Amino acid sequence: MKKYAIIGFGGAGYNAAKEVRQRDPEAVIDVYSDTDTGPYNPMLTTYYVKGAIPYDALFPFGDLEAVKRELNLNIHTDCPVTGLVPEEKKLRFADGREAAYDKILISTGASAVMPPIPGLNLPGVFKMRTAKDAVALRELLESGQVKSCLVIGASWVGIKVVEDMAAYRIPCTLVDGAKWMFYVAAFEATAKRAQQDLEAKGVPVYCEQMLDHIEQEADGQLTAVMQNGRRFTAGTVAVCIGVRMNVGFLKDSSVAMGRGVLVDRYMQTNYPGIYAAGDCCEAIDIQSGTHRNIGVWFNANKQGQVAGANMAGTPMEFDANVLVNLAHYMDYDFISIGDVSACKPEDEVYEYEDGRYYIRAVRDGKAIKCINMIGSADSNGIVKNAFIKAIENPEADLDIKTICFLKGKGFPDPFINFLGGKSLD
Ligand SMILES: Cc1cc2nc3c(=O)[nH]c(=O)nc-3n(C[C@H](O)[C@H](O)[C@H](O)COP(=O)(O)OP(=O)(O)OC[C@H]3O[C@@H](n4cnc5c(N)ncnc54)[C@H](O)[C@@H]3O)c2cc1C
Repeated sequence: MKKYAIIGFGGAGYNAAKEVRQRDPEAVIDVYSDTDTGPYNPMLTTYYVKGAIPYDALFPFGDLEAVKRELNLNIHTDCPVTGLVPEEKKLRFADGREAAYDKILISTGASAVMPPIPGLNLPGVFKMRTAKDAVALRELLESGQVKSCLVIGASWVGIKVVEDMAAYRIPCTLVDGAKWMFYVAAFEATAKRAQQDLEAKGVPVYCEQMLDHIEQEADGQLTAVMQNGRRFTAGTVAVCIGVRMNVGFLKDSSVAMGRGVLVDRYMQTNYPGIYAAGDCCEAIDIQSGTHRNIGVWFNANKQGQVAGANMAGTPMEFDANVLVNLAHYMDYDFISIGDVSACKPEDEVYEYEDGRYYIRAVRDGKAIKCINMIGSADSNGIVKNAFIKAIENPEADLDIKTICFLKGKGFPDPFINFLGGKSLD
């Protein structure tokens, strides 16, 4: 009877446990979680805050007891793993205990970055990642005490908090240290358009504002003081400036790491039998061929499934690691597919806009590098697949089904051609 350990129980951990159980009904599966809840979906936290979903909906796989019964797991709650001895496949715990396994999955996810900046621990300063964060913010907003909000971080999480404030009709200002919004994914032209459109909805945006510290005013309000001396005062401050992978407990091990745990296409680390999946790992990015952390819900679930299959002895590859980000907020959407930082001034640019879409795409010869789209959230999947196919085989044309779908959605012929489509005539 094989013994499996799963460290961290989010989307990645759950899907790995499910896959192992399906392929190895007799296995002992120990799950170690540093929380006391079932696996939740962090991307739903802001939907709970604005009242769009009930609390239970944060847990897409059911509550902890249901998951435990369904998959026959030994779940150790409030039991963080504090160390790993990869040579012996052994886990360490805070009380000095150790436990050895045949196969181990590291699926510890990521945490919201809260750097050691003065004032970040003041009451009224919050972050957004966990179910607890969501409950705390919703309570605060429902109390009616918050009259204004400053969101620091104009990216995927910050924009969803802005949307929450709009739902409660709380005036909100958005600031960011980078040159423009969605800096790691947007072309400057796309970001400037998104900024203009957001400001038209009543949310002022200030870029190139690097936070120095936060102070409390005599009336209880909070002032975020920027490194350039500029001051932004609000009733509450949301700090949404990025995530840090939860891999600190591996620092004394010789598991190969970049910012996260490095894995191959089978989600295996440099140690046979030890795997990693989800936000804590860096898998092979199919665009660059190098390791890259792409922390999205689809990847966490799929990578967990792939790791689980391999742990149970069935070879499976994860081959869809490509940069994709979708921000859907205030009846607006921005999607980025591919690596904006790979684009060079000499590359070919395609730009299009009509009343419905804004598209900007860049390629070098037939190699597509990055696509930004506004207004086309429902075509995200098909454009992503076309992008992946174009990378895998730059000489192949788009298939007829994709061309028809894109035409049906009203995408212009030159964009379809840019993606590798041929005229239907
Ligand atoms: C506000 C917000 C919006 C988002 N929006 C989107 C979106 O629109 N689209 C999208 O695709 N993705 C989105 N994401 C990202 C997506 O939610 C994550 O990529 C995904 O949930 C990661 O799953 P995971 O299982 O890897 O990690 P997690 O869900 O972080 O789970 C890891 C678990 O491991 C636990 N843990 C950590 N360390 C230890 C330890 N040492 N021992 C035991 N347990 C440990 C953690 O507490 C946690 O419970 C969003 C995230 C946030 C926060």
